[in-house]
Amino acid sequence: MEKIKMQTPLVEMDGDEMTRILWQMIKEELLLPYIDLNTEYYDLGLKHRNDTDDQVTIDAAEATKKYGVAVKCATITPNKARMEEYNLKKMYKSPNGTIRALLDGTVFRAPIIVKGIEPCVRNWKKPITLARHAYGDIYKNTELSIEKPGKVELVYTSDDGEEKRALVQEFKAPGLAMGMHNMDASIESFARSCFSYALDTRQDVWFGAKDTISKTYDGRFKEIFSEVYEKEFQEKFEQAGLTYFYSLIDDVVARVMKAEGGFIWACKNYDGDVMSDMVSSAFGSLAMMTSVLVSPHGYYEYEAAHGTVQRHYYRHLEGKETSTNSVATIFAWTGALRKRGELDGNKELVSFADMLERATLTTIESGKMTKDLALITALQDPVVLNSRDFILAVKASLDELMK
Ligand code: NAP
Ligand code: MG
Repeated sequence: MEKIKMQTPLVEMDGDEMTRILWQMIKEELLLPYIDLNTEYYDLGLKHRNDTDDQVTIDAAEATKKYGVAVKCATITPNKARMEEYNLKKMYKSPNGTIRALLDGTVFRAPIIVKGIEPCVRNWKKPITLARHAYGDIYKNTELSIEKPGKVELVYTSDDGEEKRALVQEFKAPGLAMGMHNMDASIESFARSCFSYALDTRQDVWFGAKDTISKTYDGRFKEIFSEVYEKEFQEKFEQAGLTYFYSLIDDVVARVMKAEGGFIWACKNYDGDVMSDMVSSAFGSLAMMTSVLVSPHGYYEYEAAHGTVQRHYYRHLEGKETSTNSVATIFAWTGALRKRGELDGNKELVSFADMLERATLTTIESGKMTKDLALITALQDPVVLNSRDFILAVKASLDELMK
């Protein structure tokens, strides 16, 4: 069989620990035999980040701006223990944070649905994609603990000396206060990313906030979403038969629980933090969750939603067998290859991506899976495979599909 050609390079960001091991296996067994893989490789493994003073992360993000599509392996975000373990020059920031800041994007997370792994919510038939605003609110707040009676005010002083004041509370007794902010531009680009992604994936958009209580703050979110929608997207949505729906966050939560799925749920930063963990665990497993960063300029970065699976890696280093789920990492590759294929008009690449996803799901549906899924599957007597054997089983399904 002739290998599939790629016109434009894909930006490949390698990572750490167990996911780095899976990365190599996926390339060797599932990609290189079929594709003339054209990637621009960046090693975001912690050792190389340290050797380059983290310049490699910036270079990888810049390359993503140049070529438009990237695929990223999970990476370690250093903490104190990692400083010692890797003898780091400094405590580098999270690569995802660095990349997100440079690409200015929104992260969309969606569960991978497969027969045999049933969502806890019976009526969820289609994936629910969660879009989380990744800037501001309580993640960039300022807090005060109040010890004795007194007044807390918000004071704004413009650069030309104008002042605005608002009373937060006259304290008669000890208590708490908090200040937070957001930016119109960030909310606008969040809205734009959600609507573009919705058109791309042909799904409705639901957005919830609390504008009845927070009339100015959440009110602005609601206003900006509706302005961006009306000005830039309404016509395209109507042509595509899609809708944009706004309601109060509590009402949206109630409707989500009763819905079938198949839409994008746009969430403010905190709501997205909480709800994405609820949605992903209700669908089964973090290892069955795709994640893509979509920038308003049209750059895409695909990854798995989980981390580097450190515990399994240490077992692997001791020479013990691991049964680590590679599905989300396989889907990061297929997502990126499909997008690359779409942008380049490369139909063979798009259909290869579809087929590899199909092969992965059929493998699980036939009862062959890693341990994490075997523990939750509704299938009788699943066959538990180790990390490599699962990938080889996917390869066998893929070869069968390609016959
Ligand atoms: P994790 O790697 O997501 O793993 C947490 C636990 O979840 C694992 O110990 C394992 O449970 C289970 N799990 C996660 N992915 C799995 C998979 N593919 N197959 C089977 N089980 C899986 O989170 P962590 O251990 O808290 O973090 C490890 C490192 O990842 C940290 O250094 C962190 O900075 C980094 N991280 C990176 C990203 C990213 O790059 N996007 C995201 C999150 C965390 P059992 O051990 O019970 O089997
Ligand atoms: Mg969280």
